[in-house]
This record gives sequence, C-alpha cells and structure tokens, in this order.
Amino acid sequence: MGKKRLVVSIVVVLCIIFGSFAVAADRYTTYDLDRAKGIISELSFKAAKTIEAPIEAPETPEWIETPKAYISFTFDDNHANHLDVVAPILAEYNMIATRYYISETNNPNFDECKILRDKYGWEIGGHTRTHPDLTLLPRAQLYSEIQGCQEDFSRNGIEVNTFAPPYSRMNETVKTIVKEYYGSCRDGWGINAPPYDPYNVKMIGIDNAAQTSITTILAQIDNAKETSGWIVFIAHRVDYTWNDYSTDESFSRNLVRLVSEDPEIRVTTISETLEL
Ligand SMILES: [Zn+2]
Repeated sequence: MGKKRLVVSIVVVLCIIFGSFAVAADRYTTYDLDRAKGIISELSFKAAKTIEAPIEAPETPEWIETPKAYISFTFDDNHANHLDVVAPILAEYNMIATRYYISETNNPNFDECKILRDKYGWEIGGHTRTHPDLTLLPRAQLYSEIQGCQEDFSRNGIEVNTFAPPYSRMNETVKTIVKEYYGSCRDGWGINAPPYDPYNVKMIGIDNAAQTSITTILAQIDNAKETSGWIVFIAHRVDYTWNDYSTDESFSRNLVRLVSEDPEIRVTTISETLEL
C-alpha cells in the first residue's frame, strides 16, 4: 500500500508539474501570439498610413491630364550612342524618344532597336534602306527605299509606322509613297500647331550645327505652351565631341532636366502624340 501511495503521489506531483508547464506554455504562447498580433496590426496600421499618405498630399499634377505642350525627341541614323548614352540619360528622367534608323547600310543592328523599344520604351521609325536623297531617285527605287525599309524592319520583328527622309529632303512624289506605308512623316521646320498634320511633322534642330541655346529653346517651349504646340527635336548623337552632328552632352542634360521640371509638358514619341 505504501508503495502504491508513493507511486500515486509521484504521478500526481508529475501531473501537477507538467500541468503547470502546459498552462504556462499555453499562457506564454497565447501571450506571444497576442503580442505578435499586436505588432502585426501596429505594422499594418503604419503600412496603411504610409500607403494612404499620398492621398492626403496635393492632387495629382495637372500635367497628367492636360499637358500644355508636347515634346518629342528624335535621333537619326545608326549610332550605337543612342543606346549607350542617350537612352540612359532620358531614362533618368522617365523620358522616351523616337529613333529613325537605316535598315540596310550603316551596319543596322536590329537587336539594338529592340532593346531601345523594349527596355527604354522608344519608338523605332524608318529612315530608308541606304540613306539617299529621295528627291533624286526614280520611282521604282523610291519603293525600295520606303516600302523596302519597312519590310526589312518587319522581317526582323520590328513594326515601323513613322518615317523620316534623309537630309530632310522631300517632294510630293516621295510623300505620296510614304503615305501608302507609314502613318506619319517628319518634314519641315518649326513648331507644330494643332491639329497636328501627321505627314508634316515639323522639327527643331538641336545638333551643335544649329548653334541653338537653352534660352532660345526655353522661349520656343513657352511659345509651344501658349499654342498647345508640339516641339519635335532632331538630333544625331549626344557626346562631348563638338561635332556638327552631335549635341553637346551638358546641353542635352540641361534641356532634359528643364523639360522634366515643367509639369505642363508631356514627352512622347511621334506616334504617341499623333495617337497612331
Ligand atoms: Zn539621316
């Protein structure tokens, strides 16, 4: 009997000890859970507050809905500089451009075009097959340079819907053929006033050869804003060579920064502005 009692006592004591542990463990678990829940809800509250914060900020800038002017940057010819230098500079300011590219001569690199299109959001446009003065060519050759250029791109997985004639040389015959295959064409100089003519997209040169200044360009931008205008800049490369067919890099960076700071301007590709 004494032995049995001892055993029972031990069992009872063990039960009490384990019971206490269990209760304690449960209590701590519950406590920890509650504490964790508290932390989570506090964090979610903070997160919710963080997410809500912009809603309390001033309204979305007006420029998103109604820009006073459009600006498009266009870069001509087959320069690797477009991908190596220009696209990264523009991307710093969330800006895009249109590249007019030669499809047969001048070592076309269609992969480069695809990176500009897919990674940087650029538009690719046709700039003929061999970069001739189109106004000097017979009709059959015009088709090769204008339609054939589009086919070269298409064969390489790129659809082009905007065209720019080399040396900005254009006549009615050339334009008629361009209209058969493309939705728009860069042609002529100046600022575009609404309604924008898709086959007469005027441009403003910013190559070093144009010897323009930031002050002049800002005046042109103000002019565009007063008339719901569209400025299409034409350039070839961005570097520090002072080559006539380059645009100085510090000038380019200034221009892009000033444009980015103006909430009334929207930077678009050619087809975007024309909603093509
Ligand atoms: Zn060219």
